[in-house]
Amino acid sequence: MYDLIIIGAGPAGLSAAIYASRARLNAIVIEQNYVNGGQIIDTYEIDNYPGLPGLSGMDLAMKMAEHAEKLGVETVNGFVQSLDLTGPVKKVITDEDTYEAKAVIIASGATHSKLGAEGENQYGGMGVSYCATCDGAFYRGKDVLVVGGGDVAVEDAIFLARGCNKVYVCHRRDELRAAKILQENLLSLPNVEMVWNSNLKSITGGMKVEKATVVNKFDKSERTIPVSGVFIAVGITPRSEFARNHVAMDEKGYIIADETGATNVPGVFAAGDVRTKQLRQVVTAVADGANAVTSAEKYLLTFSILRAFQLLSALNPSRICMPAEQPMRDAPASIMALQVFQSRMPPAALTSTSSPTTCFMRATSSTVAPPVPKPVDVLMKSGFARSDILARCSISDFSR
Ligand code: NDP
Repeated sequence: MYDLIIIGAGPAGLSAAIYASRARLNAIVIEQNYVNGGQIIDTYEIDNYPGLPGLSGMDLAMKMAEHAEKLGVETVNGFVQSLDLTGPVKKVITDEDTYEAKAVIIASGATHSKLGAEGENQYGGMGVSYCATCDGAFYRGKDVLVVGGGDVAVEDAIFLARGCNKVYVCHRRDELRAAKILQENLLSLPNVEMVWNSNLKSITGGMKVEKATVVNKFDKSERTIPVSGVFIAVGITPRSEFARNHVAMDEKGYIIADETGATNVPGVFAAGDVRTKQLRQVVTAVADGANAVTSAEKYLLTFSILRAFQLLSALNPSRICMPAEQPMRDAPASIMALQVFQSRMPPAALTSTSSPTTCFMRATSSTVAPPVPKPVDVLMKSGFARSDILARCSISDFSR
C-alpha cells in the first residue's frame, strides 16, 4: 500500500510528485498518456511561467518530468476507471490494476471541449483539430479557421499564422477573453482576419474539410469560408468522470476543492485544472500540487495517530484518555485525531490520565511530519508490551 496516489502527470501531478518525494512519502503517479506533462505538451509556447519566458510547453513538461524522475518518483501508465474511497484505504482502479493508498490526489486535468457543430465529428482528424501545435504543420500555406476567443484559441491562431496563408478567427463576441498581450500579438498579424460575433454552424467538404459556415449572431447572416482546416478551442472539460459519485463536483464536473485541495472526502485532494478555481494556468496548477501534498501530509499524520489511538484503545480502552496538558507540536492533526477519537469513546474514558496515554502523546507530539510516523512506531513508544502491540497490528500499520 502507498501513502499517496497521484492521478495525472500534468503540471499539478508532477509538482505533487516532487513535493511528495521531498516529504519522503511513498507515492505513485498514474498517468494515462505515454508522455508526461498533460495539456502543456500541446502548447507551443508558455510565456507566463515566471523565470522561463518563451519555453515550449513540451520543454517545460520534460523539465518537470525529469525533475520528478530525478527524485525517484514512481510513475505507471494506466487509465483510471473508477475509485473506491469508502474506507481508510483508498482504491484507484485502472484498466490494468488496482492501487491502494492512504491518500489520493486527483490531478487529472482537463481536455478540450467539443463545439457540437455540424460536421465536427465527421471531419475529426480529416481537417478538424483541437491541437494546433500537433496538426498545424499539415496546413502550411493553406487557409484555416480557429474557433474561440480564449488563451488557447489566440495562441493557436498566432502559431498557425506563422505557416498558414490565412487564419480566420471566429469568436462569438466582439471582445476576446485571452490575455491582453496575446490579443495585441494576434491583432497585429497581417494574415489574420477576425470574424466577430459569429458562431460556427457547419463544416463541409468531401473526404476532407473544404468549407466552414459561420452565422452572425445579430443579423443571422451566414458566411461560408473556404478553409482546409478548422481548429476548435472553445474551452476545457475536466477529466473527472471516474470520480463522479465519489467526490463532490460542481455542475460542470470540476471537483469542489479550495486552495488546500481538500475535497468532501477525507484523504482525497484535488489539484490543477480539475478542481474548482478562478485561474487555470500552469503556475496555479503547480502551486495546487504543492498545496495538496502539504494537506495530504497533514492527513497522513492524522491517519497514523488515529490508527494508533484505535490500536491503543483495543489494547486497554479504560486507560485511554484525553490528555489535558500535553504539548502538541502538530496541533491540527493531533486535535483532529483526538476529536475523532473522542467521538468514538465514552466520556468517562476520556477523563483520567494514564501512563500509556502520556507516553503516546509524547510520541505523537514529537513526530511532526516529515516523515509521517508509522502507527506501529507511535505505539512502540506508548508503554504497552511489544508482543501485545504486534499481535494487534495489521500490515498497513507498518507502513507510513
Ligand atoms: P477559455 O475558457 O479561456 O476560453 C474558451 C473560449 O471559447 C472563450 O472565448 C469562449 O467564449 C469560447 N467558447 C466557449 N464555448 C463556446 C461555444 N459553445 N461556442 C463558441 N465559443 C465558445 O478556454 P481555453 O481553452 O482558451 O483555455 C483553457 C484554460 O487554460 C484557461 O483557463 C486558460 O487561461 C488556460 N491556459 C493557460 C495557459 C498558460 O498557463 N500559459 C495557456 C493556455 C491556456 P466567451 O469568451 O464568449 O466565453
